[in-house]
Amino acid sequence: MTSNEPVIVLGAGLCGSLLTCYLANQGLHVEVYERRADMRNDTNAAVGRSINLALSARGIEALSKVGFREEVMSMAIPMKGRTMHSTDGKLTFQPYSKDGESYINSISRGDLNCRLMTLSEKNPNVKYFFEHKVVNIDLKNEQVTVQLPSGETKVVKGQTIIATDGAYSVARGTMMHMSRYNYSQEYLPTGYKELHIPPGPNGEHLIDKNSLHIWPRGHLMMIALPNQDGSFTVTCFFPFDGADGFDVLDRADDATLTQFFEEKFPDVVPLIPSLTHDFRNNPTSSLVTIKCWPWSVNGNICLLGDASHAIVPFFGQGMNAAFEDCLVFDRIKREEKGDWGQVFKKFQEERKRNTDAIAQMAEENHYEMRDKVGDHTFLWRKKVERL
Ligand code: FAD
Repeated sequence: MTSNEPVIVLGAGLCGSLLTCYLANQGLHVEVYERRADMRNDTNAAVGRSINLALSARGIEALSKVGFREEVMSMAIPMKGRTMHSTDGKLTFQPYSKDGESYINSISRGDLNCRLMTLSEKNPNVKYFFEHKVVNIDLKNEQVTVQLPSGETKVVKGQTIIATDGAYSVARGTMMHMSRYNYSQEYLPTGYKELHIPPGPNGEHLIDKNSLHIWPRGHLMMIALPNQDGSFTVTCFFPFDGADGFDVLDRADDATLTQFFEEKFPDVVPLIPSLTHDFRNNPTSSLVTIKCWPWSVNGNICLLGDASHAIVPFFGQGMNAAFEDCLVFDRIKREEKGDWGQVFKKFQEERKRNTDAIAQMAEENHYEMRDKVGDHTFLWRKKVERL
């Protein structure tokens, strides 16, 4: 191994592209292998799993350390609180802070990912290989086999491998064959589907732009985050089972779907002109919490981001935690200099307890958002309970 050999990064998602900025800033050569086409040339590929995301302080700090703060804030829409929509059309605003100084930000996933790749590529030591799908990893010899669209495969090798290939990580799958490897995955009975509130006739936002909108209806919940073009991305979190679950609604006719939305979410119906068409045609996806241990094997491979800790989205912290991984990883790498084994060991020990904690908080917030935020006495009672 020489220091000129590249670090092999698997996956150019949010975590992989930010990590690449950090590694390159340390003078390392980096090769990134990504199964998708370059989303900067292909607007359809940019869609990913959710169109916009809530970016908060931890994520912003990690982005700031690579000089990206100004750019990311120019792309973001501040959400200063939650606006609750009740069935009778009443709106209730709950600010995230008394003075309005603390807020979270709505940001486009695709745009953020593209800009992070472009930022990392400003360093000549960085090279991306798109449409290179990782199909096998030889942990002992630190070799990765990638497959091209033609079906042809090639083997790549570097000084170490860092896997940021997401919740269904091939790298983690390989590690699971090791003796005494711990792994758990737990699906929620709730799934999600995204819908779109288009901008108004003059490109304006049709509901408050600076809020995270929530329609809490017990086991049914919808949220909406603003986009810069005047639209909102709406996410329906419904159960799979039951009379009002996705398994039934995905097959329902227009009249049944319209009746369902008019009954449960009446103020949304006029905002989404293609509601029934989109509901039937947009995919329904599942929500999973994944935990595993260890995250690394000697100095050969380490998992970061969703590959090591996928969480459900109800705290809006999966990406933020993945960005914080990059920040912590960078600090430990600087402290440990060339010893990848020590870097990986220290990194996983520092991060595991934090990512387990946010996984639990995210699951708990699922129940708070859907059941309690619409209850006006809840925040007051919560304060009392904590005293
Ligand atoms: P990913 O973003 O999944 O990136 C993995 C990359 O690896 C992808 O580019 C993929 O194409 C590539 N890849 C996968 N397999 C291979 C392979 N075999 N070979 C090569 N490349 C491969 N987080 C927040 O902080 N705030 C939010 O508001 C928020 N909202 C969310 C809403 C929903 C509905 C969901 C599902 C998640 C949400 N998250 C949110 C979580 C966030 O999306 C993830 O935590 C984040 O995307 C993790 O980044 P990652 O780079 O680790 O994984």
